[in-house]
Amino acid sequence: MADKANGSTATTPTASHTTNPFEALAKPRRPRAHKRSATGFIPDGPKRLNEIFPGEEKAWKDALKSNEQQLTNDVKDVNAQISRHVEFTLSRQPFNVDELAMYQASALSVRDKLVHNWNKTQTAHTEKKVKRVYYFSLEFLLGRAYDNALLNLDIKQSYDESLKQLGFSLEDVLDVERDMGLGNGGLGRLAACYLDSTSTCGIPAWGYTLRYSNGIFKQVLSSKGDQVEIPDPWLESGNPFEVPRLDAAVEIKLYGQASRGENGKAGTWTGGTDILAVPYDIPIPGFRATATNTVRAWRSRGKVSFDLAAFNAGAYDAAVREAEEAETITRVLYPSENHEAGKTLRLKQQYFWTAASLHDICRRFRKLREPWSAFPDYVAVQLNDTHPTLAIPELLRILVDEEGQEWDEAWSIVRRTFFYTCHTLMPEALETWSVDLVGWLLPRHLQIIYDINFHFLADVERKFPGDRARLARMSLIEEGSPKRVRMSHLAVIGSHKVNGVAELHSELVQSQLFPDFVEYLGRDHFTNVTNGITARRWLYQCNPALSTLITKALGSEHWVTHLDELKKLQKFAKNEAFKKEWAAAKQVNRNRLCDYIESTTELKVNRKALIDIQVKRIHEYKRQSLNILGVIYRYLQLKKMSPEERKRVVPRLSVFGGKAAPGYYMAKLTIRLITAVSKVLNADEEIREFLNVAFLADYSVSLAEILIPASDISEHISTAGTEASGTSNMKFLLNGGLLLGTVDGANVELGQAAGEENCFFFGVLEPDVRELRLRHQAGQAQYPPQLLEVVDALRSGQFSAGEGDLFEPLLSTIFNGDFYLLSDDFLSYLEAQKMVDAAFVDTSSWVEKCINTTACMGRFSSDRAVQQYAEEIWNVEPVDISQ
Ligand SMILES: *Cc1c(COP(=O)(O)O)cnc(C)c1O
Repeated sequence: MADKANGSTATTPTASHTTNPFEALAKPRRPRAHKRSATGFIPDGPKRLNEIFPGEEKAWKDALKSNEQQLTNDVKDVNAQISRHVEFTLSRQPFNVDELAMYQASALSVRDKLVHNWNKTQTAHTEKKVKRVYYFSLEFLLGRAYDNALLNLDIKQSYDESLKQLGFSLEDVLDVERDMGLGNGGLGRLAACYLDSTSTCGIPAWGYTLRYSNGIFKQVLSSKGDQVEIPDPWLESGNPFEVPRLDAAVEIKLYGQASRGENGKAGTWTGGTDILAVPYDIPIPGFRATATNTVRAWRSRGKVSFDLAAFNAGAYDAAVREAEEAETITRVLYPSENHEAGKTLRLKQQYFWTAASLHDICRRFRKLREPWSAFPDYVAVQLNDTHPTLAIPELLRILVDEEGQEWDEAWSIVRRTFFYTCHTLMPEALETWSVDLVGWLLPRHLQIIYDINFHFLADVERKFPGDRARLARMSLIEEGSPKRVRMSHLAVIGSHKVNGVAELHSELVQSQLFPDFVEYLGRDHFTNVTNGITARRWLYQCNPALSTLITKALGSEHWVTHLDELKKLQKFAKNEAFKKEWAAAKQVNRNRLCDYIESTTELKVNRKALIDIQVKRIHEYKRQSLNILGVIYRYLQLKKMSPEERKRVVPRLSVFGGKAAPGYYMAKLTIRLITAVSKVLNADEEIREFLNVAFLADYSVSLAEILIPASDISEHISTAGTEASGTSNMKFLLNGGLLLGTVDGANVELGQAAGEENCFFFGVLEPDVRELRLRHQAGQAQYPPQLLEVVDALRSGQFSAGEGDLFEPLLSTIFNGDFYLLSDDFLSYLEAQKMVDAAFVDTSSWVEKCINTTACMGRFSSDRAVQQYAEEIWNVEPVDISQ
């Protein structure tokens, strides 16, 4: 792989140049060699990085000073900054500035301020030679960036006023921005929250991911109520918050031939195809902090964009084919969560991304001129799930084949560099790749994986002599045809620590997933870091009504970065005036959601109804089906009541949202069931004010920001032992909604924190799940009459225009094995719902529960989580940027 940035051959003069964020399609440029040290940017002399200038020092200093002075936030200055981008960057005039142009110009002016902090941050990190953490995640579900930047920089008021003066409404302009849809769900959102927290806490961090030109698909509903996927060309009108770094492109090899070296010495990898990886950087600002970390997203490009010889010979398709193929690597995000994708292109993505990222990290390390043994003193790489596990053999390859390190030393460096977060317990989510595929795409890496396995199994054999069954269970290679590489085993032994994402989950990771590895590596190799969420986005930004109230009560905004301070809200929990304001804030959010529902669907909703929300990826283990069957049961009971009896019932609005993986039949049928019930209820004039169902299409971060503040109850009702943690449970409780959940994932800890009297728990416990599943398999299960009543209604075609067998595939999973134990949990679910209704009637005590719940959410801050990672896992220290 050639390093484009430090290439020493051709020198193209670098003109002073403003990067055009709306796509610069130039070839990677090489920086001009002037008075710099040979390795690039670390000077040997006494000067600081920001005092090294080509040419005349005074000219630079004056120019930079003037730039800095132009970044002030007085409304008049902001007007000038925005108009400069209108005039010069967009090349427009005031008369043809529409909302999109105003969004672009004003966002670019905000980006200028971010870039200023960003440069300061990177300079400080480099000068201080800090240890950095690199968070490798195939997904970053960032949502929108503009509002977040305004709040973090504390300039929202100036921009609000400026846009007013320029003839626009900030609210409408913010609404032009498209979500950066670079993720599926929880795993990608976790990565986004963690990067936010590293910046706010001053921890030097980089996120590494891919820049999918088509992020996750957009979900729309057909007239029948089925999910339809349409492309989401989110980059269509550019992304003002990314900066292309064409000069830092690297070449990545695929295919080719490999050979082992003699006695663990350097091997070779030749031939094959080289593809260009071009980084696009997104600044991640800290809250009221200078520290600004980076998400670096790689885009794949052909090395040669166009074959002129082929074109001249009339082969027009062939002229662009190779470039097209290269571009394909970062075209799509595989739309599945908690499920292995298992596609060749997906493996290509995983290698392309990890190799480009490691190349970047090694280049940064080489500038330090330290021995490779010091690599783990400067670099910690967190593997978010097994997706980036190829980084382990790739770093070994770099060390042994390119840097001439001995195998044992290289393996020791690798094992001190990587850390692995496990996100699941479900077998269908554990990645394996066929040996043939790995060998074809990455011949040298397959050899390295076999060599790792050879040394590893020899060591297991030494510790547990003669235990062949154990060797087979632990091997990196699963026997069978075809043989497969077990990525999770490779991640476990190639990492320094393995963590689960909630206490219960981390227990089960050790006892169910990797018991052999616990025996072999010791208990200390495994740990827990319970997930967290950022209070900046998930309260301060998405819920201004409640944030304002909290700030007023606590006297300052200090809680936004010290979430434990919410504890002080407890003393207001019995204060009637405060409770009234709390309820009023909830009503503001409730109205906002109801407006959204009425403007995007045909529903008419009761604004006083209890709002019950379940939004997350649609998955059998998450059991949206349990929820909707419960709704049907409630409907059937309401139908039997007299109008007088109905008036005593707490009105309910059940809201669903979430995408199904396009190939996941049962999940799509669940969406169809929810939309079918919604139609029947909404058409039932007698019932709809007491019970209504809304399925909101295209669940995303932006939609979550509207939904979460509005909930009275949210449902997190996975079969015990199937949800690793969940993070939306934390978001809802932080916003003063109550939990209806099973004893699973982080629900357990949320319940301990909030107090069980403030939560609604139900359902079987994890240790009983196995036994219950066996009972179903033996045909000894009991089906409660309430469930059978619902099943009969469905089979009658009442919810499918007479088509009685439409939902039969879904029902048959319940009567055939019931793997997710719906029949076992149905009654206790109905009981829990009854208790919700009873509690809601007593408004005063309900609000008290909500206040006390929010007050106890400090522990679920992602600030706590990343600080725990930094101290207990990464050994990375926060850095003060201001000095
Ligand atoms: C938080 C979040 C998730 C994760 O939800 P869970 O209920 O924890 O699975 C998924 N999607 C979006 C958009 C989120 O914000």
